[in-house]
Amino acid sequence: MLIFNKTQERFLPYLTSRQVDQLPEKDKAVVILPVASIEQHGPHLPVFTDSIIVQEVLERALGNLPDDFPAWVLPIQSYGKSNEHTGFPGTFTLTSETFIKVLKEIGANVARNGFKRFVFINGHGGNTEIIDFVIRDIRQQTDLMVFALHVGLRVGVPTGGLSEAEMTYGIHAGDVETSMLLKCSPEYVKPEWAPNGLPSHLQGMKTPPFMGALNYAWLTRDIAPIGVLGNATTADPERGEKYLSNAASEVAGLLIKVKEFEFEKWQA
Ligand SMILES: [Zn+2]
Repeated sequence: MLIFNKTQERFLPYLTSRQVDQLPEKDKAVVILPVASIEQHGPHLPVFTDSIIVQEVLERALGNLPDDFPAWVLPIQSYGKSNEHTGFPGTFTLTSETFIKVLKEIGANVARNGFKRFVFINGHGGNTEIIDFVIRDIRQQTDLMVFALHVGLRVGVPTGGLSEAEMTYGIHAGDVETSMLLKCSPEYVKPEWAPNGLPSHLQGMKTPPFMGALNYAWLTRDIAPIGVLGNATTADPERGEKYLSNAASEVAGLLIKVKEFEFEKWQA
C-alpha cells in the first residue's frame, strides 16, 4: 500500500538522479503529491482509510490515462492535519504549522527539480483549507503552477444510493468510506463493528449547524462521540466501486487539464 503497485513506472523516487534530470517534456509533466491522514475512522475502518482511498483513486486515474502521459507521483504525505480527532486512539496528526511547512518545502523541491506543474490530490477534509492557501503561497514563492484536487469533497463527490441524512451528515467513516474500503481493502475492515453514526439530535436540518451562518470550531468528540458521522451499517462494496471509479475518471480528466493549463487560455 505504501508504494504504487500498478503505476510503478510513474513513481518518481524509482528514477535515478540522471533520469529525473533528463526527463522529457518537463514543462508539461504533472508532479502529483497525494496527501491524506492517519486518523481514527470509527471502530470498523483502519486509521489509514483516507490514505488508502486517495491512493486507490489516483492509481485508477493514472490507469485511465495514455501510457505516455507525463505524470510523476511522489510518496504519499499521510501525516496531515487531523487535530479534530485528537483523543481517539490511532490518530497521528501534525500541527497546522508543521503541515504547512512540509507542504511548502515539498513544493519548493518540485520547483528546484525543474518541474512547472504541481498537483495536490487530497483525501482528508481537514486538510482542505490549508492546502487551498498553501498552493497560492507556493505559486508566489516558486512560480510553479499549483493545483488542488479534493477527492470526495469537490472532485468525485459520491452520489447515488445514499439517503438524504447520509448526504448531509455522512462526512466521516460512514456509508461512503466504508463502501469504498469494502471494495478496495476489505481485509482491513471490521464490518461487525460498523456503527450507525448519524447524529439523531441534528437530523432534520438541511445544513449541518457547523456549516451554517455561524461557523464554529468543532472537534469530533463535540458532535460525534463514537467518532463516526454517517451510517456505516448500510455500506455496500458495489456502490463503493462506483464511487471509486467515478472519482478516478474525474481525476483523470482534471490531470489532462493540468498538463494543458496556461493562464491565458484557461477556461474552467
Ligand atoms: Zn476519511
